[in-house]
Amino acid sequence: MKYREFAEACERISQVTKRLEIRSFLSEFLRKLDPEDIPPALYMLQGQLRPEYEGVELGVGDALVLKALATAAHMDEGRLKEEVRATGDMGESAFKVLSGRQVLEEGRPLELSETYDTLRKIGSTTGEGSQEGKTGAIAILLTRTSPVEAKHLVRFLLGKLRLGVKEMTLLDALAEIYGEGDFKLARGTIENAFNMDPDLGEIGTLLREGGLKGLEAVTVALGKPVRPMLAERERSLQEVLDRMGGKMALEYKYDGLRVQVHVDRDGNVKIFSRRLEDLSSQFPDVVAALKGAFRTLPVIVEGECVPVDPETGELRPFQEISRRRGRKYDLERIATEIPVEVFLFDLLLEGTESLLPKPYPERRERLEKLTRTSSAVDFATREIVSELPEAERFFQKALTDGCEGVVAKSLAPDSRYKAGGRGFLWIKYKREYTQELSDTIDAVIVGAYRGRGKRAQWYGAFLMALYDPDRECFSTLCKVGTGFDEETLASLTQRLTNAALTARPPSVESGFAPDVWVDPEIVLELRGAELSLSPVHTAATGLIREGYGLALRFPRFTGRLRDDKGAEEATTVGEAVRMYTSQVRHVEEPPKP
Ligand code: AMP
Repeated sequence: MKYREFAEACERISQVTKRLEIRSFLSEFLRKLDPEDIPPALYMLQGQLRPEYEGVELGVGDALVLKALATAAHMDEGRLKEEVRATGDMGESAFKVLSGRQVLEEGRPLELSETYDTLRKIGSTTGEGSQEGKTGAIAILLTRTSPVEAKHLVRFLLGKLRLGVKEMTLLDALAEIYGEGDFKLARGTIENAFNMDPDLGEIGTLLREGGLKGLEAVTVALGKPVRPMLAERERSLQEVLDRMGGKMALEYKYDGLRVQVHVDRDGNVKIFSRRLEDLSSQFPDVVAALKGAFRTLPVIVEGECVPVDPETGELRPFQEISRRRGRKYDLERIATEIPVEVFLFDLLLEGTESLLPKPYPERRERLEKLTRTSSAVDFATREIVSELPEAERFFQKALTDGCEGVVAKSLAPDSRYKAGGRGFLWIKYKREYTQELSDTIDAVIVGAYRGRGKRAQWYGAFLMALYDPDRECFSTLCKVGTGFDEETLASLTQRLTNAALTARPPSVESGFAPDVWVDPEIVLELRGAELSLSPVHTAATGLIREGYGLALRFPRFTGRLRDDKGAEEATTVGEAVRMYTSQVRHVEEPPKP
C-alpha cells in the first residue's frame, strides 16, 4: 500500500466522530492492506511503531522536525516557526507550506512499509551525530510526500497523530472482518488472544493467515506481558465466603505495584506493570533480587512490589513506592532509601508450559516449589479458610501488617488464570481507611531492634507500648523505625544501652521479642494512618473485640521526644479505644459498593 492511502485514511478518521462509523471505515481499510502492511498499519494508526510495552520511541522533538520541514520546503526556519505559531499545529503547517510545491521532487511515491522502516530506523539512531542523521532522514521523507501525507507524518513524528483509534476500536474492526457473521463471538475470541499476546500487529497477521482459528496458536510467551487477571469485589467477608462455596484461599492484599516478572533461560529479568509498561530499568534492585530467585527457567510470575521499612522489615505506605516510578537518575540511592520487597502470588509460565489453564492451587504450589525466597522476594501471605472467624482474623492481621485487605482466591478445579478478566475467581475485600490519624499518640519504648545497613551502629527500630492504668501494665501498639534522624538514633541508643535488659520486664505485655528489652521510660510522639484491630499487638486487648488488640498502622516518629512525660503519662489504652471508635470509618463497615 502507498503511504498516501494510509495518510488519507488518517485524514478521514480525524473527521469522523462516531465510533461505529470509524469501526466500519477501519475494517474496510484493513481489508485492503497487503499482508506485510498489517502490523505497521495497526501500530501506526495508534501513533506507535511497536506495541506499547516495548517502549519504542522515535526520539525526535519539535525543533528537529521543524528543521527537517524547513529543509524539505526550502523555507527559512524562522518563517516556518511563525507559521507554526499561527496554526498551532505543525502538521497543518506542513500541509500549508508544501501545498505550494508543484511536483514531488523524487517522483516515486512512498510505500507504507518503506515509511515505517525509515521511521523505525530513525527511532533506533542514537549517539553522536544522531540528531543530524534523523533530521536528514525526515527531510528526505518529507520531500517525497504530498501535503496530506506530510501533515500526518509530521503529526506522527511529534506523537500528535491523535486519531482517537484505541486498541479496542481496532479489535472491533478486526472482529467485523473476521467474524463471519458472528461479531460477538469473534470479538470475544480476538480479545482473549489479545489479552495473552498484546501485540496487535501479530494478532492481525495471525487473523489474516488463519482467521479466528489462527488465533488458537496464541499462548503466553516470554517477553510479552500478559494482561493481568483482576478481582471482583464483595461487601462482606461472609459474602466472599459464600460466593467461594464455603472454602477459599485468602491472601494478603498488598498495596504496592503489581509486577509481572519474565525471566528468560539466561536469567535476564523483565518487569512489567499492570498497564504493561516495562519497569525493568526503574527497579534495578528488584531485577537483581529476582535474577537468581527461580529454580526453573524460563518463568513468568506475578506479585506485588511493596515498599518496606529497612529497619523493621514492615510494610510502608504505597505512596513511598510511587516516588520510585518514572525515575531515570539516582536509581541506586533511591533503592536504598526506599527498599522494596516482592510478594509473589502467581505462576503463568514454567519452562515452556503455560499455566494459565491450571487451577490456582496448582499454580501456587508450583510457584512455591520453584522459588528461592530471600529478603527481597517472598510469597504473598496466605491461609486456606472455611469459617468466617478465621477469615476475619486473617483480614485483621493483614491490616495490622500494613496491607489494604485481602484477596480471596477460588480453589475450584476451574480456577484458571483469566488474562485480562475481572471475575469472581478472585474477590478483593478491602476497607477504606482514613489517610491519617487526626491526633498524635505518645507511646513508650519497651524494646529495641538493632539497626541494619547505615544504621548498624545504633538501634534502628523500637517496640512501642501504651499504658493500661487498670492493669498497671504496658501493652504493645506497634514497631516504629521511620521518622528518626541519626542524631536521635545515636542518643536513644546511648540511653537504651544503659537500660537494656535481657528479659521482658514484668510490667510489659507483648507477643513480640525485640533484640533488647527496656524498662518503660522513654516516651515518643507518633503519628500513623489509623488504629486497627490486631491479633498480635496487645494494646487494649479484648476491649473492642475478644482476642484482638489495637495497632497503629504505618507508624512514624514525629521528631518529638516527650521527655516531659513519664511512662504512665503516655497515651492510655482507654484513650486509644476512644480514638479507634471515633475514626471516620470502621473496620466493620463494609466497603462502598
Ligand atoms: P484493585 O487494584 O483494587 O482492583 O485490586 C487488585 C490489585 O491488587 C491487583 O492488581 C494487585 O496489584 C493487587 N494485589 C495485592 N495483593 C494481591 C494478591 N495477593 N493477589 C492478587 N492481587 C493482589
